[in-house]
Amino acid sequence: MSSALSVDHLVNKNVMGLGAYNSGLSVEELKKKYQVEKIAKLASNENPFPTSAAVLKALLGADNLSHYPDPYCKVLSAVLAQDLDVSEDSIVVGNGSEDLLSIISRVFVEVGDKVMTVVPSFGLHISYPVACGANMLIAHLTDDLEFDLDKITTMLRTENPKLFFIASPCNPVGCSLNSIEVQLIIDSVSHETLLIFDEAYYEYAKDDEDYPDVLSLLKASGKPFVLLRTFSKAYSLAGLRIGYGVFYPTALAGYVHKLRTPFNVNRYAQKAAIAAFHDHENLEKTIAWNNVEREKMASELIHLGLSPKSSKGNYLFFATDWNGVELAQRLLSYGVIVKPWLEEGYEEYIRVSIGAKEENEQFIDCLSKILKASAK
Ligand SMILES: *Cc1c(COP(=O)(O)O)cnc(C)c1O
Repeated sequence: MSSALSVDHLVNKNVMGLGAYNSGLSVEELKKKYQVEKIAKLASNENPFPTSAAVLKALLGADNLSHYPDPYCKVLSAVLAQDLDVSEDSIVVGNGSEDLLSIISRVFVEVGDKVMTVVPSFGLHISYPVACGANMLIAHLTDDLEFDLDKITTMLRTENPKLFFIASPCNPVGCSLNSIEVQLIIDSVSHETLLIFDEAYYEYAKDDEDYPDVLSLLKASGKPFVLLRTFSKAYSLAGLRIGYGVFYPTALAGYVHKLRTPFNVNRYAQKAAIAAFHDHENLEKTIAWNNVEREKMASELIHLGLSPKSSKGNYLFFATDWNGVELAQRLLSYGVIVKPWLEEGYEEYIRVSIGAKEENEQFIDCLSKILKASAK
């Protein structure tokens, strides 16, 4: 068959212009390409802290694999609803919260609709709405990489976007909104705007004294909102794909159910999530361990003369004198996978996830070698 066969005329115009999702090389590909044995995979904010023993037990108990899973994840939804003090029908579970981001875009965005977010940001907060024809409005972070509250609230008031996606803690930076700031944002959205609050790193941040109870603030507002959380990060279950959203009013959840694939969350994921959610002790251990390793890595980066931003997540964001893609490429040759930031204006930045102790050490060792060799 001819490789010159053009399919461009078939492709949705909005999809044509999208960049590829930067999900990085797999461990297997990397070992083969660079002949390295030890890989430090620090590009996707995965959490290598061992998952709860209760999860492993629940997985062994998953049966009836010949039959479709519960399409509404009823048991898990009931557990979540009770804990979050929301109604069961306000919860929709997704095949990862990415699944929900995709469905939300398709349910709500029509060609030309204004959709607002912040940059640097989680790529899917842009690519999914853009694929649906959104007209994106961007509120850049300030020069010192904090949320620009003036800009965000002014844009919300003057542009009145249909959707506003924001992640706090912010991926990739790690900064977060305090309660006054969340309230200012809520006060600035009209009833016509759907506020989509992505709390993928909630568990890591929740005990910080300036981290607010975002769900309570949203509930108290009476305005429409979606709050997204995931089992991929602090619960160490990225491989199973499961995340959830709280939708208010519940009519929003009804529309999301219409567009999701009917059996979007598999049996293993449903069982594991319930077990993980109940194991508070393991969650607290993972958070404590992450915080220690993150602060250790931050001080080592500072020791190398770099300035990582203070982070509430399981990752750090920092710039070097290098172009990020080139530095990441060089690190790859040592078996270290990090994420160079590709958004315009942030090309010197790298996001590195907090991995297992040996991975973090491998990263710092290799980075130190590369930077020292190139020092002027
Ligand atoms: C990791 C991440 C997600 C996606 O998580 P999944 O549940 O694994 O799909 C969503 N939002 C942000 C901001 C993330 O960093």
